[in-house]
Amino acid sequence: MLIELKDINAFYGGIHALKGLNIHVDKGEIVTLIGSNGAGKSTTLKTISGQVVPKTGEVIFEGNDITKQPPHVTAVSGIAHVPEGRRIFPRLTVRENLEMGAFSVKDKKVIGERMERVFHYFPRVKERINQLGGTMSGGEQQMLAIGRALMSGPHLLMLDEPSMGLAPIVVEQIFEIIHELNKEGMTILLVEQNAYQALQIAHRGYVIQTGEIKMVGEGRVLMNDDIVKEAYLA
Ligand code: ATP
Repeated sequence: MLIELKDINAFYGGIHALKGLNIHVDKGEIVTLIGSNGAGKSTTLKTISGQVVPKTGEVIFEGNDITKQPPHVTAVSGIAHVPEGRRIFPRLTVRENLEMGAFSVKDKKVIGERMERVFHYFPRVKERINQLGGTMSGGEQQMLAIGRALMSGPHLLMLDEPSMGLAPIVVEQIFEIIHELNKEGMTILLVEQNAYQALQIAHRGYVIQTGEIKMVGEGRVLMNDDIVKEAYLA
């Protein structure tokens, strides 16, 4: 098990956002968390990255309790979080955005190697290397955001709604790259409203509803489940 969330209860003031949530991701898996608006998907990722500290429960990553670890520590300890809406640095160039992803790395050779790896997955990012981040298209910004996350050398890559607001053909490309990254060894936790595509590439999926896990199973099995079909694949 690479990461495990045990019996997590998280609140925003009086709002009980996660209610006794249990999930885990094994090394090498793509796991997807699907659910409607407000179900608690982003809160789950924020609980892992340290932006939300749960009232009760534990987050265990590579055998260590990281429940109360602040986000800047989590970010350099092997977990990369690509948030909803991408949030690249619009006034920095593509190269500077990528370098920011590796801010904790001192070895220039390692930074160069990681950048080459990003270019391998995203040739478009290489083509735009000197362009300002904010002038890239939505799909290019998503590629840059994932590339920036890879620059930290993560063991777990968390993606929050990578398909949001993108044209179908771009969504297809992004999902292909997520799949390829995983085939080459990256463990991925993927939050999606686009349940069909997420379940197609996921080893396992969790269905979350009002802060509770309602179903768990292999991606292909969930895809053929009548309740999932009706609620999320219609
Ligand atoms: P979406 O797909 O719409 O982003 P989600 O499944 O990611 O939904 P969360 O963003 O995790 O859902 O929200 C879970 C619940 O917590 C919702 O009821 C939401 O309104 C509430 N919530 C989220 N962030 C905050 C916040 N900063 N302050 C107060 N309530 C919040």
